[in-house]
Amino acid sequence: MSDCLFCKIVDGSIPSIKVYEDDHVLAFMDIFPLTKGHTLLIPKKHHENVFDMNSEDAGQLFSVAPKIASAIKASFNPAGLNLLNNNGAPAGQSVFHFHLHFIPRYDQTDGFKATWQTKEKQLTTDLVTKYADKIKSQLSI
Ligand code: AMP
Ligand code: ZN
Repeated sequence: MSDCLFCKIVDGSIPSIKVYEDDHVLAFMDIFPLTKGHTLLIPKKHHENVFDMNSEDAGQLFSVAPKIASAIKASFNPAGLNLLNNNGAPAGQSVFHFHLHFIPRYDQTDGFKATWQTKEKQLTTDLVTKYADKIKSQLSI
């Protein structure tokens, strides 16, 4: 896509610090890193988000994820690592070309925070079971 930032990184018209490349995917360093080693993995083909990808696209990308994660672990020995993928602006997506963040974690003050306010009182087991049935009916289409 001509006006997509990450497509421009793929075609080389915008510079990036690359760490891995094959026929289908590219991994490069995030320009505003949250932590030491923060890396992005993208498909070379433009896909806006996960809803725009099929199993083959996803397989090509996710099959490389353990390799990138292991290289980050071997390089920096982080205490943990978050894989993060935002789909849609309300979910925090700011670049609309699918990307998977690899965020090595060092301690509780390393700059990464996610609030996780569970709603088990409102979302009862009865409701959750209904939601599961709804998802299952879509999966069997
Ligand atoms: P998201 O909010 O999930 O869409 O994340 C987009 C990520 O792309 C952010 O972490 C940005 O720092 C990163 N980013 C934006 N422009 C560039 C660039 N030119 N090179 C590398 N990373 C970038
Ligand atoms: Zn793109």
